Amino acid sequence: MPLCLRVSPCVPGRRAQPCERTLTPEHVTTNDTQDQALALMESARAARAHAYAPYSRFPVGAALLAEDGTVFTGCNVENASYGLTNCAERTAIFKAVSEGRTAFRAIAVVGPEDDLPCAPCGACRQVLHEFGAEMLLITPAGAHDPGGVVTTTVGALLPGAFDGASLPARGGDA
Ligand SMILES: [Zn+2]
Repeated sequence: MPLCLRVSPCVPGRRAQPCERTLTPEHVTTNDTQDQALALMESARAARAHAYAPYSRFPVGAALLAEDGTVFTGCNVENASYGLTNCAERTAIFKAVSEGRTAFRAIAVVGPEDDLPCAPCGACRQVLHEFGAEMLLITPAGAHDPGGVVTTTVGALLPGAFDGASLPARGGDA
C-alpha cells in the first residue's frame, strides 16, 4: 500500500523518516522532494490567508503542484447558503484546470493550525482522484512533529473510487 512518508523538518543532512506503514520504492523521498514538499506546504499556508470562512472560521489553504512545475494555490470560499461552499483543494484544482493543466504531482493542504493535519473531505478526494490516484497529498504531521509533514496518495485516501473507468465506453471525447 503506497502509504505514507513522514518528511521531517528542514534539517540539513537529515533524511526523511518512513513511518510505520509500508513504503513502496517510488515513495522514498530524496532531499529534493523533501524540500519540495515543505515548500508546497509553505505555499498552502500563504494561500490560507485568503480564505473566506466567516461561517466556519476554519480557514484552509492548498497548493497544487502541476506536472510542469507550476503551483496553483487555493483557499476555502464559503457561502451563506453553506452548501455552495468550495474547499481549498477544489479551488486549486479548478484554477489549474481552467488554466490548461490536468496533470499534477502533489497537493499540500493545511487547516487553521500550522502543525495539525487537515484531511480532505470526501468531495475533494473524489475531485482530486479524477486527476490521478498517484497524486501525493501532503499535510502537517501533527503537534508532535512541528514543521514536519506526512505524505500519502489520493488513491490511498479513496480506495475503490468511482472514476471514468466506471462509466460505459463512449464514442469520442468531451
Ligand atoms: Zn473538501
